[in-house]
Amino acid sequence: MIRHKVFIDGRWVAPAGGEYLPTTNPSTDEVVAAIARGGQADIDAAVAAARGALAGEWGQLDAASRGRLLSRLGQLILDRLDELAEIEAADTGKPMKLARNDIRVTARYFEFYGGAADKVHGDTIPFLTGYQVMVLREPRGVTGHIIPWNYPASMFGRTLGPALATGNACVLKPAEEASLSCLRFTELAEEVGFPRGAINLVTGLGEEAGAALSNHPGIDLLSFTGSPEVGVLVQQAAARNHVPCVLELGGKSPQVVFADADQDKACEIIVGAIVQNAGQTCSAGSRVLIERAIYEPFMAKLAARIARTRVGYPAQDLDCGPVISQVQRERIQGFLERAAADRVEVVAQGTIDPEVDAQGYFVPPTLYGAVPRDHELAREEVFGPVLAALPFDDEADAIRLANGTEYGLIAGVWTRDGARQLRLAKALRVGQVYVNGYGAGGGVELPFGGFGKSGHGREKGFEALREYTVAKTVVIDHRT
Ligand code: NAD
Repeated sequence: MIRHKVFIDGRWVAPAGGEYLPTTNPSTDEVVAAIARGGQADIDAAVAAARGALAGEWGQLDAASRGRLLSRLGQLILDRLDELAEIEAADTGKPMKLARNDIRVTARYFEFYGGAADKVHGDTIPFLTGYQVMVLREPRGVTGHIIPWNYPASMFGRTLGPALATGNACVLKPAEEASLSCLRFTELAEEVGFPRGAINLVTGLGEEAGAALSNHPGIDLLSFTGSPEVGVLVQQAAARNHVPCVLELGGKSPQVVFADADQDKACEIIVGAIVQNAGQTCSAGSRVLIERAIYEPFMAKLAARIARTRVGYPAQDLDCGPVISQVQRERIQGFLERAAADRVEVVAQGTIDPEVDAQGYFVPPTLYGAVPRDHELAREEVFGPVLAALPFDDEADAIRLANGTEYGLIAGVWTRDGARQLRLAKALRVGQVYVNGYGAGGGVELPFGGFGKSGHGREKGFEALREYTVAKTVVIDHRT
């Protein structure tokens, strides 16, 4: 079995503690590889290597050269599309078509940020006569990146792309459940010729390598994507060192369907968005809010569509695969059991393909109807293929309901009324609003982030370039 090492200062080395962790295929529960169990000493070495890179070759590279490296990495990822998609599908259980899409999105991040590297401009500000003011945009320095298991590939591109484009040196801690694609991307970055120390990768457990990174006083910015609970721990740790954070956390995103919507289109996209990746998507539209006038007919459409969904192995390329682990499966089953005890109505369920092995962590897509507004299914992130439907009375009620959770990540609005589209877009407390659609390709150009329990700061697009840089104001008195 392959034992993957950590990557520090341009070299693959055994973890300081000498231990490895098994990583399993969620479709079969089989151990497929071992990853290094990195810890404090590895993180210390990785942070020191990143600091060294800033003072060395990496820090000396001009912006266009950095951009070229990123673009080349993007191209190499595309060249290896099939191989990388196989790795991602085996490690996460996602259908091959989704894994392929994730790899394309990863490549697209490097293409986008490769092109952006030499377009991050500073500013000049008119000031007192005889003074010249420049605002420089400088890299933060050493950036720490902690990412989850649900989209490891695209998270790799999303978080490292803008950080590297702007000249930071990075330390990445991927999720222990799914690190394999990140390991392979790092090998490809090495092949492309990133100077040593620009990218450092330490795998391991959250409470060990993750905590060591988030508590590290030697980093200048921490980017965390994961659960709200761990997000709080990470933020507290960073605060003790006065390290700023970008936090991308969970969601309970609403799909708001008005009576004048294109119901067939809405139904297809809404179901697609909750079964995608077995519902393990931070921006999954897990609440569908339906105007009362069309509640019954629209629910009938949703039910028929959910009932047609099929769950199976990645290679079968069905609607979704297994969830990531037995722990996640039990967590989701807990929601289903409590909903049954509370007599919340199951309106429809998809089917688990009879071919699949009982060893895998499979969960059927499930639609719940008329969920009480204060029920956990209407408020909490399930992180599984579970859709909660709730009726609403009018536009004001829809807005109240949509904004009525602690989260605020993204929203879908379904209506043909242009003025209403705009009113909703402005009233919803979320980082992205989609009108008559939901998600669009990888959307790497589109700023993304949350409010409240969904986190703060913005990733993707040009906004991410702001997060990974800091403004420095230079005031020159040139009077003689
Ligand atoms: P998680 O918080 O358990 O783990 C995320 C990462 O944090 C992993 O790398 C893990 O090892 C690490 N970690 C765990 N404990 C830690 C600690 N004490 N200190 C430092 N690091 C620690 O989350 P998960 O279960 O992997 O992912 C699911 C969650 O991520 C969901 O809530 C989902 O909504 C969220 N998510 C958000 C986005 C977004 O962009 N907003 C994207 C994907 C996932």
